[in-house]
Amino acid sequence: MGLFIFRRGKLHEDFAKTPRSVEKPPRDDSSYDFLSVKESILSNSRTTLCQHCSVLQLRDVKIVQEDTSRGRKPPELKADVPGFEADLVYHRRDVVPHLPLMANSADSGCGFCVLLRNAMIQHFRQYPLGCLPDDVIEIVRIRHYWNSGLSAFTVHSPAFVRPGHRFGYLTFRVSVNPTDPCASMFDIGSERVPESVISPAGIFTMKQWVFGKGEEKAALQTFYRPTRLICVESRKASGLIRLVESGDGDKDEKPQPYLALSYCWGRKAPSLVTTKSNYAHLKCSIPINSLPKLYRDAVRLAQVLGVKYIWIDALCIIQDDLDDWERESQMMADIFRNSLVTVIPLRAASTDEGFLERSPNIQVLYHSDEWNVSGSFFVRHMPFSYENAESAIRNGPSFSDRPVSLELQNSVWQTRGWTFQENMFSIRKLYFGELMMYWDSLRPVDIMRTEDTIIDDKLDRIDTAELSLIHSSGPWRGDYDYDGWYYPILQYSKKKLTYETDRLPAVSSYAKLIASKSGDTYLAGLWKNNLHRGLLWKLQRRDRGTFDKLIQRLASPSKYIAPSWSWASRRGALDLDNSDEMKLECGILEAKTKAHGGDAYGRVRGGHLLVRGRVRSVPGGRLQKLPLGTPYMDMQCEWLALEDEQYVAQCALDWRLTADRGKQLSEASGRFIEAIVMLLVSSGHTTTPSVVSRNPQEWEDKDGVPSLEVMHGLLLYPTGKADGEYWRVGLFHSLADEQGGRDYFDRCDERTLRIV
Ligand SMILES: [Zn+2]
Repeated sequence: MGLFIFRRGKLHEDFAKTPRSVEKPPRDDSSYDFLSVKESILSNSRTTLCQHCSVLQLRDVKIVQEDTSRGRKPPELKADVPGFEADLVYHRRDVVPHLPLMANSADSGCGFCVLLRNAMIQHFRQYPLGCLPDDVIEIVRIRHYWNSGLSAFTVHSPAFVRPGHRFGYLTFRVSVNPTDPCASMFDIGSERVPESVISPAGIFTMKQWVFGKGEEKAALQTFYRPTRLICVESRKASGLIRLVESGDGDKDEKPQPYLALSYCWGRKAPSLVTTKSNYAHLKCSIPINSLPKLYRDAVRLAQVLGVKYIWIDALCIIQDDLDDWERESQMMADIFRNSLVTVIPLRAASTDEGFLERSPNIQVLYHSDEWNVSGSFFVRHMPFSYENAESAIRNGPSFSDRPVSLELQNSVWQTRGWTFQENMFSIRKLYFGELMMYWDSLRPVDIMRTEDTIIDDKLDRIDTAELSLIHSSGPWRGDYDYDGWYYPILQYSKKKLTYETDRLPAVSSYAKLIASKSGDTYLAGLWKNNLHRGLLWKLQRRDRGTFDKLIQRLASPSKYIAPSWSWASRRGALDLDNSDEMKLECGILEAKTKAHGGDAYGRVRGGHLLVRGRVRSVPGGRLQKLPLGTPYMDMQCEWLALEDEQYVAQCALDWRLTADRGKQLSEASGRFIEAIVMLLVSSGHTTTPSVVSRNPQEWEDKDGVPSLEVMHGLLLYPTGKADGEYWRVGLFHSLADEQGGRDYFDRCDERTLRIV
């Protein structure tokens, strides 16, 4: 039995002494910003704790001795409680939104009250309270978790429950100085991380990563220099830096290592960008103070690392010069591939946010008379998705629960379209997270390191396919290598862009690289020699709009982005409807796109496919919805085409079919379904027919199912503008089952269609 005995029985009454009514907060948003007010308390090296919070000292925890045979020594903390958790008595109330009691106690010097109050305010900002101002909320307990070196406190309150969740709590991560007795006593595996990235310890860590054995040499094998760089050497501490061009006077100079910054612009343009009018001026001098916070931090970082140059897109590309912008955005691959390090501030959502300062730790002193042990550990708010934090603590850290994964999943950086290829091309990346820094390097050693030293092994990279494509020089291997294009694009389709028209430009550098390796022709996100697979993208259900909206957008788009057969024409997460060993089943007579400017891999202003192939209309002019709960139902191909009540094909529509008030329909028919044609595009094979069959249970238990043929094609809708001209509005696949498969299409004539 786990023995946790708390002698502190009496709860404090200070709540009762405080007036019920507190001053009404002013209405402006800044009234919620308490964050900077009391963190000064935390600069004291040792934090005091109020009577409530002193439970964190774990002083009264009676520890079970694991091994007595080797004499009396401080034991490892061990409990028979499932999940290695123990409740600490912690009960208090406060008044929202200002939390005056906690503010008092924070003012009196309790470090944990400062952390907790700030964490609560941050939480209520993200998930607005379900109660009114002046209401009383209650904190009911603190739970102490420890498992496989991961240690944390969670603070529980019904007020922390987010919509759709049953329980609510805030998580505080526990770390330690590795030599401290508390490390083994409380099974704390993560080392304390300094509050500032540019503290002596932080700089030491970064220099080890960046300039460690063979690192710098490996990074500087190619002597590449971007067109422009920011020189961060400030003359005589003047606070002035400048923009330099490769051709500026130092032609004979050896290429110098530079940092490249990969970040998000945020909703608006940075407060300083290079334009035609300020260009000459910025080449003379840029006052560091005139830079937005994010750039200032990046410059400071370069300076403390002793790296003379940094590349920042907004400053190194002339933003109002379209030719310069197009030329430079095509160079992204080279710029990021050849940087000494790519600097990635994960949490900054705009250039107004910095990344060198991190949330504070408090130090909690520990002493046990019984074991004659004194030490301390550190506590810090962990502002991440709670399910993940909890599962990490309960089940031990799995890959997806590791801090680096949590930070990536929760980063704004990860969601943005432009950072996609910057990330792919970079060989050496330095991530700045909320919790700590991470080093991810492919050369000279393929390794990932974290600042708290808890994980020092190589993580499984999800992007292995494209990495091997980018950094390998082998011959082109057909479908296998095309996957190195499609799979990253599926990831990319989930990302957000400030301008929808950037959807093709933001992958143009990667497209150019694939073109140079494959020798293939690029067609607005697809490849001419791989249309038999590339055309078969499908849109996830939640990203589909109504049929009218789809047709309206195809007929008169507010901004033209791509032809209807390109995935780039739709916003939303994509999937591919592919099978094995696919081959083309139609004739591509012509496949063309029109570039918008001079870049064949950037924006387009038109495009068409001229296809000769087997075409049939939707049988009976009607589609039937697969019932919910059909085993193995493909959520995207949820419509069934039937002939004489027998299976012909499964279809995915590019739109959402609903009746009035959003009610789901079980059958689709009418003029627009009658107008749709099914064009056979390709064929392939599958060994898991249960996934595509109408009657999956028939296949489920069969052993050694032979590979079955699947036919793939597009659903097309007439544009009404020219005879034989169509838009793509969906896709289908048809298994050799009942009426479906090759036979169904052998019974029809060939036609020539133009798809725009
Ligand atoms: Zn306190």
